Amino acid sequence: MKSRFLQPSYIELDRSALINNILFLRERASNGVRLSSVIKGNAYGHGISAFLPVAEEAGIDHFSVFSANEAEAAVRFKNNPDTNVMIMGMIRDEELEWAIEKGVEFYLFETERLEKTAEIARKTGKRALVHLQIETGMNRTGFDENEWEALFRFIKNNREQIGVCGICTHFAGAESVANFYRIQNQEKKLRKAVALAEKYIDLPAIHASSSAAYLTYPEKHFDMARIGIAQYGFWPSRETYMYHMKSEKLEQGSDPLKRVLTWKSEIMSLKNVESGEFIGYGNVYLAGRNMKIATVPIGYTHGFGRNLTNSGYVLINGERCGVVGLVNMNMITINVSNLENVKKGDEVVLIGRQGDDEITVASFGEMTNNLNYEVLTRLPSTIPRIVC
Ligand SMILES: *Cc1c(COP(=O)(O)O)cnc(C)c1O
Repeated sequence: MKSRFLQPSYIELDRSALINNILFLRERASNGVRLSSVIKGNAYGHGISAFLPVAEEAGIDHFSVFSANEAEAAVRFKNNPDTNVMIMGMIRDEELEWAIEKGVEFYLFETERLEKTAEIARKTGKRALVHLQIETGMNRTGFDENEWEALFRFIKNNREQIGVCGICTHFAGAESVANFYRIQNQEKKLRKAVALAEKYIDLPAIHASSSAAYLTYPEKHFDMARIGIAQYGFWPSRETYMYHMKSEKLEQGSDPLKRVLTWKSEIMSLKNVESGEFIGYGNVYLAGRNMKIATVPIGYTHGFGRNLTNSGYVLINGERCGVVGLVNMNMITINVSNLENVKKGDEVVLIGRQGDDEITVASFGEMTNNLNYEVLTRLPSTIPRIVC
């Protein structure tokens, strides 16, 4: 429901950070490699409607989503008629017709969908635009080796109905060197499928890499890379970061990627609490001295988890201030005893930079980079996104 009142918090997207990240990624592209911006999970919590047009401005002309409903949003918010949208996962039979009509590209990874696609394309009189997903060892979705020949033959015989934009796979776990051999084997298998495809069809764009593989294995870029986490300013893993900084002889600690997202709220109220008093529900926090407490209108309903009770931090006036007491449904209480000039309405940063300090998504979660994905995508879609 649209309200004329402001929400208790909002998310800012930093246009210049996104442009920086896309430039950084582009500079690393082997010859002619196209970048597809992965915007599943509501653009990793950044909000499809706000994020997509800015990414387009930064030169992106291909977007990858998971499902038909996300593709619908992408089609709605894109401005460039030449921008392509690709569904990598879920599309129901009854959604195929829409995708074909709209020229939305989608993955084919099973014979059933292949035949259905040809049938619907014939009915609508429009060519379906597809990417053939090859099983190379991730064992999630994809055509198995014993199906390849029949697949390519079917495509050849139905080329009026089915236009192949891509042959693809997904490297399983390029963010860790532990998976090196698995990925080498996947690449070999993909090349084998491509060699076979060549006997039947003109080769389309080949793609296999997400952020981690893209940054770690430039020799496996092929024609397109599907970039998610890195464009938002996060490294897929600590290992990918270390590898990159070492191989480019950059100083550890600096960061060529810039975070795009900042989550902000404001101080709702201030209160003095005397030593010996409990703060909030139960006896979770006992004031050991006279304290000044700020309430901030954010709680677990907004994605600020209860696991941050007595342990999370926010930034106020450029200082790191701790959560005291339980995280409530709609409120947190913050220890601002050390802040001199703090007042009602002051900006509170929950994720992102303020002054010289930063609350990282990783610290917001559980101190590991791997959870960046999860924390980001859990940010409720109801929080307004504003491009700055
Ligand atoms: C999510 C996803 C990506 C992007 O992964 P990142 O690690 O965020 O770059 C690429 N390809 C597929 C198939 C995906 O599901």
